[in-house]
Amino acid sequence: MTLKQTLSDLVAINSVSASTNAPIIDYLEERCVALGFNTRRFTYVDENGLDKINLVAVTGTELSEVTEVELALVGHTDTVPFDPHWDEALALTERDGRLYARGSCDTKGFIAAALSAVERVDLKKLKRPLAMVFTSDEEIGLRGAKFLADLHALRPRYSIVGEPTSLEPIRAGKGYSLAEVVVRGREAHSAYPSLGASAVFRAARLIVRLEQIADQLKEDQHEEFDPRFTTINVGLLRGGTAKNVIPGECRFTLEWRPIPSQSSDYVFNLINQAIADEQKNDGEFDAEVKLERLDSGFETARDSRIVSLLEQLTQRRAGTVAFGTEAAQMTVLGSEAVVLGPGDIREAHRTGEFVPVDELDRCADILTNAITDLCG
Ligand SMILES: [Zn+2]
Repeated sequence: MTLKQTLSDLVAINSVSASTNAPIIDYLEERCVALGFNTRRFTYVDENGLDKINLVAVTGTELSEVTEVELALVGHTDTVPFDPHWDEALALTERDGRLYARGSCDTKGFIAAALSAVERVDLKKLKRPLAMVFTSDEEIGLRGAKFLADLHALRPRYSIVGEPTSLEPIRAGKGYSLAEVVVRGREAHSAYPSLGASAVFRAARLIVRLEQIADQLKEDQHEEFDPRFTTINVGLLRGGTAKNVIPGECRFTLEWRPIPSQSSDYVFNLINQAIADEQKNDGEFDAEVKLERLDSGFETARDSRIVSLLEQLTQRRAGTVAFGTEAAQMTVLGSEAVVLGPGDIREAHRTGEFVPVDELDRCADILTNAITDLCG
């Protein structure tokens, strides 16, 4: 089947994260089985009662708990939602060397290129096992990949994780952490401040400390990132109930993106220290950090074989990204991981998402060569 036809089939299957990914997994499993892969499903039920399936397909043996593979090609099957008025969303449309559809670049283009690559290789002749890994719920917190990592579903020595990087190999990525901070005070009539304690003033003092932490974090630099340090953002803030009431509660979201050399709880500990410092000045200071995400980043050494191989195949120096990817979970599984795929991340998640045809074709060539080199 041609690469374009495969991509057309994939985008025609609506696989937004809010629905089950069973139909697209059925399609991918059928393709993999026809090529001679052994497949295994790792399924969980999400909070809406929907089956979310992660498919692992391996050459050679049946998948067991300790399946070691030389190379894993990893792509997430879910997409972000799309505008129902965008009539190309599920119908791949070619125009001016571009293929438009939801998921065309994030990340069905990579999956189509990976299927096309394995079709060109004689899998029976591979000396070392190859795996295809198709995950669920990447767009809503890398949940499928985390599920596989928790289960130690396989042990890939190397992995290529599909994300739109315009075919630039990415060997390191920042982590992602998110918390909701709840600061409590005591409500009172605003004419009598001494009867209450303002949660907003307390939150403001804590946020000033967070800004100081943000400055302090600038000193720990990883020179290949832009920006080079861990960043912090207070994105939303809400406090109080009325103009003449001393606010009893103030909540804000706190997000940070750690460089991979910092442990995932490094900033979390600094935040808790800031709260402890406030408590020294104000014995009643009351703040709680409700952690929602604590995703680590990843870094694969510049001299890793997978990095140099992909640098050679793409003729580009490996870079870094400031957003989270499933490469972190592949690292947890013991893999040296690189992120690479056709299309531009800035085009993803938009109406009018597209993948350039030439990049899609080149991606299939790169993956074919990577399989032959590592597994052949
Ligand atoms: Zn993606």
